[in-house]
Amino acid sequence: MEEKIYDMVIIGAGPAGMSAAVYAKRAEFSVLVIERDFASGGQIVKTYEVDNYLGLPGIGGYELGEKFREHVDKFEVPFVRDKVQEIQLDGKLKKVITRKGEYLAKTVILAGGSSPRLLEIPGEEEFQGMGVSYCATCDGAFFRERVTAVIGGGDSAVEDVIFLSRICKKVYMIHRRDSLKASKSLQSVLDKLENVEILWDTVAEAIKGNSEVETLQIKNQKTQEKRELSVDGVFVAVGAVPNTKEFQNLIQLDEAGYIAAEEDCRTNVAGIYAAGDIRTKALRQVVTAVSDGANAVYSAQKYLSELA
Ligand code: NAP
Repeated sequence: MEEKIYDMVIIGAGPAGMSAAVYAKRAEFSVLVIERDFASGGQIVKTYEVDNYLGLPGIGGYELGEKFREHVDKFEVPFVRDKVQEIQLDGKLKKVITRKGEYLAKTVILAGGSSPRLLEIPGEEEFQGMGVSYCATCDGAFFRERVTAVIGGGDSAVEDVIFLSRICKKVYMIHRRDSLKASKSLQSVLDKLENVEILWDTVAEAIKGNSEVETLQIKNQKTQEKRELSVDGVFVAVGAVPNTKEFQNLIQLDEAGYIAAEEDCRTNVAGIYAAGDIRTKALRQVVTAVSDGANAVYSAQKYLSELA
């Protein structure tokens, strides 16, 4: 039997991938979405609330992910759950090799987003799932009336602190500098929280415990003073790393490991596009990811019409 050739394979089902799926299907392309996670939506499904997506103020992150997926499902786009291992070029065709099989496509949209950055300190790996978490909205409920620490100073860290402050007895916020990177609007919510203690200029050095997390060893970078905080949970929110490892031999990356692509989402390989958090960009938000999905399909459409 002859192998099916898709007009477009989309790798990733976050806002960028799902937006691309809608635009591609409306352009009457044959499309397949390959997603790795159980729930579509990418990182927003782990976000408590999204308050800056136009038209849907205050929507829950998981709910927004569901809405995106419902929209895509209306167009009957096929999804497979699998992990992409490599893309090979076969003339002008692209062979997407996954754990369970392979798919041929004329164009590919890389929309695999990013994953949480690790702290890489002693105890972090050992206590993952035993008190160390990268998702406050997923795991926060396990720490009701207990003491937690959030590490980081960006929007994610502040959102996590706000979320946990409603559940926990006390939340420490550990930030390596003396000012936050997070937006002013989030900072003003943070300032009003009474059960939050911010430890400035402070780094986490080790996570300790027996079967579960018991203490967090920290150091003030200015005074060099070391302390051990008694905590039940440590939430790590120190940014993200792009999911580009599988493509690094084929696709040009920037210095930080993101795919080098401008707003038209074209990569160095004709017919392969990068959309959303995975590509070089100044602002990584749901709205810019959704926009990338549309732009990537627009660029692919031009390429496909030249192929025909
Ligand atoms: P981020 O903006 O990259 O912030 C990472 C934070 O972690 C920074 O404060 C950084 O410190 C700190 N950090 C990095 N590496 C560290 C390390 N090894 N040890 C200790 N601290 C470390 O990441 P993010 O907060 O996950 O946000 C990512 C993107 O998503 C941003 O564009 C953000 O605006 C967006 N986002 C938006 C919302 C929203 O609008 N509601 C919510 C969440 C995320 P420095 O400050 O010293 O660099």
